[in-house]
This record gives sequence, structure tokens and C-alpha cells, in this order.
Amino acid sequence: MTPRNKNFIITIDGPSGAGKSTVSKKIAARLNISYIDTGAMYRAVAWATLKQEIAPAESAELEQLLRNIKIRFQAAAEKNLVFCNEQEITAAIRTPQMDKLASVVSGIPLVRKALLPLQREAAKDCSAIIDGRDAGTVIFPDADLKIYLDADISARAQRRLKEQAAALDLQSVSKALADRDAADSSRAQAPLRRAADAILIDSTNLDIDEVCEEILTRFFARFPESRL
Ligand code: C5P
Repeated sequence: MTPRNKNFIITIDGPSGAGKSTVSKKIAARLNISYIDTGAMYRAVAWATLKQEIAPAESAELEQLLRNIKIRFQAAAEKNLVFCNEQEITAAIRTPQMDKLASVVSGIPLVRKALLPLQREAAKDCSAIIDGRDAGTVIFPDADLKIYLDADISARAQRRLKEQAAALDLQSVSKALADRDAADSSRAQAPLRRAADAILIDSTNLDIDEVCEEILTRFFARFPESRL
């Protein structure tokens, strides 16, 4: 297999706060490939349910919302802009309320069924790094390289606390992360789990550059012809 001559897919799964999105953006920039944030797609659905005052549960209204939803990404300097039905929602979907609601909507089978083809479509005809919970198990089970990025809950909570604009304390951030991990890991559909062929990286004691280095080393070891 030679990724240089064909498009290739890298998946990166793991619990909240392990550093997946920061790492994915850096790898995408380094390899000049697309970054697909599948979590942002669940957040966009959560945002749309709130805006349209639709309960986060299976219903004809939710089905209609999903049939008409348009989610798109736009790469911008340092940022990956997210649009839902042409409204820019990049910041609006990064609140503690959206963290919770995205986790709830992601457990609804109808929502997962609607987003799966959109996620696959987003990586059609391009090389990409896909950030998610089920990227290597469900969305792209044949990915060229699969990473499972993990870290201790305390390290993840510390990182999240630094990112949050709202004044929150470490204990409540840690509890919210633990609740979300439990919900994501225990749901019936596409639960968070490490694919058998995913490489485990524990980022507890690694900084972002060290994690990227580890992933790029694995990538170039597997596909030496891609090293430019
Ligand atoms: O990655 P992020 O925290 O933005 O994801 C928001 C939520 O979307 C997660 O808590 C998870 O419940 C859900 N999700 C998912 N499957 C994915 C990506 C995210 O269920 N592939």
C-alpha cells in the first residue's frame, strides 16, 4: 500500500480531553491532508435541536431535522470553522451545555445513522485524519493507520479546564468528563473503544508535539514513501 499514490485515512479515537483535535489539526497541516472533526458534527446536531426546539430523542421532527441538515467545515488560519445550515457555529458548539447535549444526541441511533454517510462522504476523494470515538471501529474500519489516544482523567481534566472560557473548577470539569466517557463507552451503538488494530498512545506525560512526533513516526515507518 502506498499512500503517496492513493488517498489515505488516519483515524484518531479516544476519550474527551486526550488531545485528539489539537493533534489532528497539526498532523493534517504537516501532511497537507483534510481534518474531519466528527465530534463537531454531533455538536452541530445538538445545536440544531436546541435552535429548533426539538427534544433530543427519536421523533419525526428529529428525522426531518437530520434530513435537511447541512454541516460543513472551512479551514481558516489556526481554526476549523464549523457551519450548520450556513450559520457559523464554531464557538457556539464549544460550551459545557453543548458538551452534554452532543453526548446525548450521539446516543440516538437515528442521529448516528444520519451522520455516518456524511462522515464517510467528507473523506471521499481526499486523504484525511478523522477525529472521533468510532472513527477506526465504525466509520473507517479499513483505515491506513489507527490511533487510540488516551490519558489519565486528571490530566484530561486539567487540559479541559485551561481551554474553558467559563469559570469552572477542576472537580466539576473532571466529573463532566467522567460522565461523558461513561456515556460514550456504554452506549449500545458505536461505543467508544479501541479498535483491535489501533496503536495506543498515552498522552498523560506527553506534550502535543511529542504525541504528533509519535504518530508521524508510526505513519512514516508504515509508509516511508510518504516522507517528503
Ligand atoms: O469530540 P467531541 O468532544 O467534540 O465530541 C462530542 C460528543 O460527540 C462526544 O462526547 C461523543 O458523545 C460524540 N461523538 C461520537 N462519535 C464520534 C465523535 C463524537 O459519539 N465519532
